[in-house]
Formats: sequence, C-alpha cells, structure tokens
Amino acid sequence: MVSYKELGLVNTREMFAKAIKGGYAIPAFNFNNMEQLQAIIKASAETKSPVILQVSKGARNYANQTLLRYMAQGAVEYAKELGWEHPQICLHLDHGDSFELCKSCVDFGFSSVMIDASSLPYEENIALTKKVVEYAHQYDVTVEAELGVLAGVEDEVSSAVSHYTKPEEVVDFATRTGCDSLAISIGTSHGAYKFTPEQCTRDPKTGKLVPPPLAFDVLDAIMEQLPGFPIVLHGSSSVPQEYVDMINQYGGKLPDAVGIPEEQLRKAAKSAVCKINIDSDSRLAFTAAVRKVFAEKPGEFDPRKYCGPARDLMEELYKHKIINVLGSNGHAE
Ligand SMILES: [Zn+2]
Repeated sequence: MVSYKELGLVNTREMFAKAIKGGYAIPAFNFNNMEQLQAIIKASAETKSPVILQVSKGARNYANQTLLRYMAQGAVEYAKELGWEHPQICLHLDHGDSFELCKSCVDFGFSSVMIDASSLPYEENIALTKKVVEYAHQYDVTVEAELGVLAGVEDEVSSAVSHYTKPEEVVDFATRTGCDSLAISIGTSHGAYKFTPEQCTRDPKTGKLVPPPLAFDVLDAIMEQLPGFPIVLHGSSSVPQEYVDMINQYGGKLPDAVGIPEEQLRKAAKSAVCKINIDSDSRLAFTAAVRKVFAEKPGEFDPRKYCGPARDLMEELYKHKIINVLGSNGHAE
C-alpha cells in the first residue's frame, strides 16, 4: 500500500472546489510515454496550472502501470525542478471498469479514480460506483463516476450511439453513490472522429465540417439539480484543423476528422464543468510533428530528432488549452 500523499500528489477535491468558484476547468491530459509527460508537466509548471494526469486501461497495457506510476512520482519532482514550488498534480485512473482495478490503483498511489459503469443498468451502476467510493474514501482518494453514454472510441471504451445524461437521475445517483464528481454526456464524444459528416453541416467558405452544438440545456438542467457539484466532460478534444492538415499534407490520411469547437469548451469551463478531458489533440500534435520530420528529412533515424519536435508541439498545445480554453493558468502557484 502506497499513499499518493507520500508521492506529493493531490486528489481532486480542492482542485474542483476552487475551479467551480473561479469559473475555470482543470485539464485532464492522458499520458502514455515520457515525451507526453514532459510536455504536460512543462506546460503546467510554466503556466502554474493544476493538472490531472490520466492513465487509461490502454495506457496501462501499453506502458505498464508500475512504470506509469513511478513516472507520475517523477513528474512531481520534475515540476519542482522547473521552479513550480507547490505542484498541484493529480494521478487519475481514466475509465476504470471494475472494483478490482480501481482498488489496485488506490493501493498503488493514485489520488483519484474513475469507475465507469455507465454501460450497466442504472441500479448496477450505482452499486458498483458506491463500492468503489466506499473503498477509495478510506484513503482520501476521490472518485469520478459516469452517468449517460458517450459515443466514440477511446482505447477499449466504445459506443456507437450516445445517450444524454438524464437530469432527473443525477441527484439520486450522486447521493446514493457518494461520488465526488460526475462525468456526463451532453454531446461530446471520444476520438478524432466525433461526428459523422451527416451529423454536421459544412462551412460554405472553407468546406470544413461544423459539428452539432453541445446540449447546454442538459448541462443547465443538471447544474440546477446539483448546484456546485463537480461535472466532468470526456471526449473534449477539438481536433485542431492545423494538425489534421499537417498530417494530411505529410502523407497521412484523416479525412473529415472533427472535434468540439473551443468556444463551446470555453463556455463549459466557466460553469460547474471543472474537469475537461483532452487526449486525441495531443495524439494529433505528436503525429503531425513526427510526420513532418519524416517527410522533410527522410534520412533521420534518431528518435530524439522526431520525438523532440513532437514533444515541443504537444507542449504548445497544452499551454494553449490551459490559457485559452480552460483558464486554469495561475491557479496553482
Ligand atoms: Zn473518456
């Protein structure tokens, strides 16, 4: 048993309370490798933004959970070395799908876990979430739950259709489970293809797809039911066209990739939405930078020469999100 407190990590409780009061959202960035983690920590340290490092089931399979946990511990020390006196870093399990997985993360130094039982029937979702909450709270680890179903594909989590969260269920769910935050479905979606061309309209000037707007009426109804309760948005990458264009220009093929417009996320960040998950955008940045190097310097074979630029582009992306979309900069001096 390792407590996250010994590792210098924090849970989400205070982070979220401050974010709701301050009208901003905490970035939750997924990481799978060293370059990505370096970019996240550098961007957070330089902007003094609290940050949530997310480990998905796919990341655990790819990078090994032990290694990822020690990397997060290293990240705290790295942040201090960068001059961030009091780093506010949370290590969070993304889309935990069983009690055993959540328990092993709690026991292993995670400061926050998500139990995603949203695909189960309502009562089973409550029962499993409650079980995780009861265990995690003994160690002051915070728990995110999910109600409603997001469309899209994220590692092993996938669904063809979305079901918006039902506002009439949220009070009962939050009360009976004791969860600390709630991931809701209001039209965000996992992956780089959040919407089919049929769901979108086309901008007559650019010919680019314009996605349908988020269901802010559902968000408003949820906030009315649960005033001041921390709300989480998954699947909130914006799929920046500059990266998609770069990828396509340098030999890639991502036709009609489309995400959530940043002005909608900006609006959400000012509400009780206090955690916004961004994963696909950094994948796109990484890929765009690597493709550019490969296209321009076909003789290059030192991974540092293409992972380095990928890291730089991700860092730029993270800073942009923190400062221009979430507004979390300066909230963790
Ligand atoms: Zn997700």
